[in-house]
Amino acid sequence: MFEKELQKLTKDNLLRRIIARSSPQKPVIRIRGRRLLNFSSNDYLGLASHPEIIRAALSATAKYAFGAGASRLLAGGCILHEKLEREIAAFKQTDAALIFNSGYAANTGIIPAMTSGDCTIFSDELNHASIIDGCRLSRAGTVIYRHKDIAHLKTLMKKDSSKRKIIITDTVFSMDGDIAPLQELYRLCQEFESLAPGSVLLYLDDAHGTGVLGKGKGALSHFSLSPQPWLLQMGTFSKALGSFGAFAAGSHDIITWIANTARSFIFSTALPPCIIAASQTAIKLLKKDRALVDRLWANRARLTEGLRELGVDISGSETPIIPVLTGSIKNAVRLSEDLFQRGIYAPAIRPPSVKEPRVRLTISAAHEEKHITRLLKALRDCRDAFAAGKKRKIKQPG
Ligand code: PMP
Repeated sequence: MFEKELQKLTKDNLLRRIIARSSPQKPVIRIRGRRLLNFSSNDYLGLASHPEIIRAALSATAKYAFGAGASRLLAGGCILHEKLEREIAAFKQTDAALIFNSGYAANTGIIPAMTSGDCTIFSDELNHASIIDGCRLSRAGTVIYRHKDIAHLKTLMKKDSSKRKIIITDTVFSMDGDIAPLQELYRLCQEFESLAPGSVLLYLDDAHGTGVLGKGKGALSHFSLSPQPWLLQMGTFSKALGSFGAFAAGSHDIITWIANTARSFIFSTALPPCIIAASQTAIKLLKKDRALVDRLWANRARLTEGLRELGVDISGSETPIIPVLTGSIKNAVRLSEDLFQRGIYAPAIRPPSVKEPRVRLTISAAHEEKHITRLLKALRDCRDAFAAGKKRKIKQPG
């Protein structure tokens, strides 16, 4: 079964392989017995392996057991879940917050929950797959606007006659590393709200902004924007916070509505207490040590400067997510493999994840200067080897 389909994927260089690490998630990892520098993880602050987080997870397991046993509505959650929600609301300066089991579960649960009634979704064309799936599940009319194109969005919104319009965007686009124009989006929502209160909702997926932008507080803080009753922020614990799971933060009414209607919240077992304790500790560390975020940005600056000197096209990246565009799937796979041979792990990203194939580099606060130097040297060597190979091919007769 699926033999032909698999053959086609292989022929098109699109067959994906699951890769298993035999070491902890860190800047240096082990895959298939090889020691590699890791430039693929979303663990932007290096918290996944932080000893305080590991200790907190162990002690929560000892105190509250491992499995949650049931959904939150059936007492699967413990007081740690509630405490984390209060902490997230305070961190985000919102009335309330709600924990979800993953970012994927949040988007596929929240989006359908928000779209009951006469409603149209406006979604950036480069939004994450979990948003796309949330829109599909919602069965609401979904209008795709050109990437970050506010004029286009405004035109589409004006043409739409539904009672409520929901704008959805990644704050940091996960494969390109550019930042959504939140100030313009915010102003646009204010405009619609002033004409008809309750007519618009802005939903921000801050998965890659949390812990990274706004000195770690996220995208809204990065733009000095304040929360609003018409704004809902989603963020994940699974990336910069080095843990697992996600949250929604917004007004009391929106959060209560979601807790009552989001199917991925209602019909799924709560996260184990150890994960909640890990997320709590990550927030505490982030608040305590702002140098963590500074280190991340200093490393990013070092890497992008080196890439610029090498003449590498990093497209519109503004964050620790740095795509190296390769022009073809074959080149993306080849660059990733060549880097692997030189001790670097940086995966090729291909359709359907992206339209333009690339190698996606991510940098973290935990990388050391020597790691960045090695990556740059490996990229230079790959480029030179590629150019030499091309020349050889041209010289060959026939
Ligand atoms: N939103 C965005 C923008 C993401 O990049 C991701 C994960 N890659 C998710 C949501 C899903 O988050 P999680 O991995 O916690 O399910």
